[in-house]
Amino acid sequence: MAIAIRKTVELKIQRQESPKAAPHCESFSIPYKDKMNIIICLMDIRRNPITKTGHRTTPVAWECSCLEEICGACSMVINGKVRQACSALVDQLEQPITIAPMTKFPLVRDLIVDRSVLFENLKRVKAWVPIDGTHDLGPGVRLDPELAQERYELSKCMTCGCCLEACPQVNDRSSFIGAAILNAVQLFNSHPTGAVLKGERLAAVMTGDGIADCGNAQNCAEVCPKSVPLITSIAKVNKDITKELLFGWLDK
Ligand code: SF4
Repeated sequence: MAIAIRKTVELKIQRQESPKAAPHCESFSIPYKDKMNIIICLMDIRRNPITKTGHRTTPVAWECSCLEEICGACSMVINGKVRQACSALVDQLEQPITIAPMTKFPLVRDLIVDRSVLFENLKRVKAWVPIDGTHDLGPGVRLDPELAQERYELSKCMTCGCCLEACPQVNDRSSFIGAAILNAVQLFNSHPTGAVLKGERLAAVMTGDGIADCGNAQNCAEVCPKSVPLITSIAKVNKDITKELLFGWLDK
């Protein structure tokens, strides 16, 4: 009689109880399930937090929401690559699977980081189309279909933070604002109504090293799960800033 071999998934997870605690790794060996992703692995560990050596530990802390690569909440570094845990399928990963938190954001606990800087910077560049009020203003400006399609690609950003994690210029010594924010500047500057705030948005990224520190490594475009054309967005914002610096004074 053939003996059934029980398949397992081997994981090595970086743990850290609090922002000030020292990080350490814990290994887990959990039963394999068909088509499982990293979220299912983490859920199984949460149900039975016992390490590979049989030691009972605390459940791993992580964040998730949509489970369909739309919200960006479950972004983490899996086998050395920043990506979403929901779309990381065990069958496609080499084992032991290493899981660690993103490093460019303040750590909260285990795999949870604080991405507030992204949202604060979206406020800084006024990443919205201004309206006078909530009353009916009638139909808006008609968008050229080609421009609408172009802008649609930019609007796919889910503020996951992967582009910041992969960028060598996002570090403690630089105030580079990051590709996602520059993409948002381009998204709203290219809207006929949103363009009203174009000057303010450009001014916001011109302060400090908002855009100047981009080293053109292009890692951002490589890791972006939504294939947002980040290099094109950064180039367009750069061009607008150059125009603003050269001719902006004519409008004043
Ligand atoms: Fe994530 Fe791409 Fe948006 Fe960057 S641009 S935050 S990688 S979706």
